[in-house]
Amino acid sequence: MQNDALKALTRQVHEDLEKIAYASGPWVSSVLTHHGEPVLDVAVIGGGQGGLATSFALRRIGVHNVRVFERAKHGKAGPWVTFARMITLRTPKHVTGPDLGIPSLTPRSWFEARYGEAAWASLDKIDRRDWQAYLDWYSETLALPVQHDRELVDVVWQDGLLHLTFRSQDGETSKVWARRIVLATGIEGSGSWHVPEFIRESVPAHLYAHTHQEIDFEALRGKRVGVLGGGASAFDNAATALEAGAQSVAVCIRRKTLPRINPYRWMENAGFLGHFPSLPDLTRWRFMRRIFDLNQPPPQDTFWRCSRHDGFSFHGDTPWLDARCDGETVIVKTPRGEKTFDFLIIGTGFVIDFSKRPETASFASNIALWGDRFTAPAGEESAVLDSYPYLSPQSQFLPRDAAHPDAAMLGAIYNFTFAATPSMGLSGASISGMRYGVDRLARAIACDLFVQDGEKHLESLLSYDTEELVSLGRQGEEQA
Ligand SMILES: Cc1cc2nc3c(=O)[nH]c(=O)nc-3n(C[C@H](O)[C@H](O)[C@H](O)COP(=O)(O)OP(=O)(O)OC[C@H]3O[C@@H](n4cnc5c(N)ncnc54)[C@H](O)[C@@H]3O)c2cc1C
Repeated sequence: MQNDALKALTRQVHEDLEKIAYASGPWVSSVLTHHGEPVLDVAVIGGGQGGLATSFALRRIGVHNVRVFERAKHGKAGPWVTFARMITLRTPKHVTGPDLGIPSLTPRSWFEARYGEAAWASLDKIDRRDWQAYLDWYSETLALPVQHDRELVDVVWQDGLLHLTFRSQDGETSKVWARRIVLATGIEGSGSWHVPEFIRESVPAHLYAHTHQEIDFEALRGKRVGVLGGGASAFDNAATALEAGAQSVAVCIRRKTLPRINPYRWMENAGFLGHFPSLPDLTRWRFMRRIFDLNQPPPQDTFWRCSRHDGFSFHGDTPWLDARCDGETVIVKTPRGEKTFDFLIIGTGFVIDFSKRPETASFASNIALWGDRFTAPAGEESAVLDSYPYLSPQSQFLPRDAAHPDAAMLGAIYNFTFAATPSMGLSGASISGMRYGVDRLARAIACDLFVQDGEKHLESLLSYDTEELVSLGRQGEEQA
């Protein structure tokens, strides 16, 4: 239910868009399959912030035959109101993104309409539920073409088109043709959440959970909880367990101590955001080694959210090496001796591995990775960066083997997940990267479609016969 100010803002967005609508009409040649079936210009996979903004950006530059397919049911896309356990975003409130530079569409305009200007002025960071409410308003205001409960499970290349198979939660399948797809499938969307093998093998599933899973925190009341990992999610889960009455929560990390510097704040400048992909490989590699090495500290307020509890402890230089169970307790082996817990929370993030995703598994082995295309100088190697896809300057997959039949198909697939970061800089799965990343992605796709149909556009010009000069007589006189 929108208040009057939000209704007025919605009208303002429509007026603003109308004022800058120049050249946003459809221009892409329509395509049918040999059997006359319709073909989307772009299928965007994933209806989180990245997929929504991409479909809007495409529409603004005249690519209208687009649909967004989202695996989750309505209201359940993305992390914000599903498994995220922080109070606020870590992103500073001045960062803009999905609005693509339109002031009335910014998070600030939404927030001021919803809560008032004074509330914005005194706000520190945006509540994650407000961020989701903003994204819901954004999608509704722009009438974005999202279909929920459609998980992409297979991609086949046929007659120069992508044939996509979707599955819904009740097991029904449907097929769609598309000329291009964008994978906006999330931070883990080019792989899977990671749980160390020794935990999967030695600890029964009811005694541990990864941070992205549902966790019954009430059941942790009075329990000893061990958390592996030092990222924001690890600390958010630690705090949630402490707030639910856990007797103790021990956060263990491999590093000696927590990182304190956040390179994301350094990256938030138009030079880096706009032009990183144009750098030579070695420079991009060096940037990324530094950024991945610095990682991001847990936000200060998240750390304090934990440290205010007596039961909280934090252990640097304490990787978990092995685990075993004794009844309902888990004994974890570390270089500093054994630790005993009643429940484990695994905050070890995700790995990049295309073979683990249904939508990319069939062609995963032919996707070029940094490890295939680039050899790091001695002493500057990184197995993690090696596992990331080596994308084209436009964010498309590239083939490992250019002669492989998958090669042409890979060029029709754009990656807008976190895995794009080493190639593109901040782009997919980051609010800070959206302002430049979404725009660059949409323009690249539009360029690709335009160039592919160059001859058709030329024919269109050659047959263009709309007269602008309609009379050669005096004004008001009709002349044959
Ligand atoms: C807990 C958490 C907190 C974060 N906090 C911040 C923050 O404060 N600031 C910041 O800049 N970034 C943050 N991030 C990183 C990033 O901004 C978020 O992950 C954000 O949700 C990325 O948006 P997205 O649209 O790329 O992916 P998502 O929002 O994850 O959306 C991807 C969607 O794709 C769908 N999908 C996946 N596979 C398929 C498929 N095969 N078919 C159809 N649909 C599919 C998923 O259901 C999902 O809804 C956070 C990430 C997490 C996990």
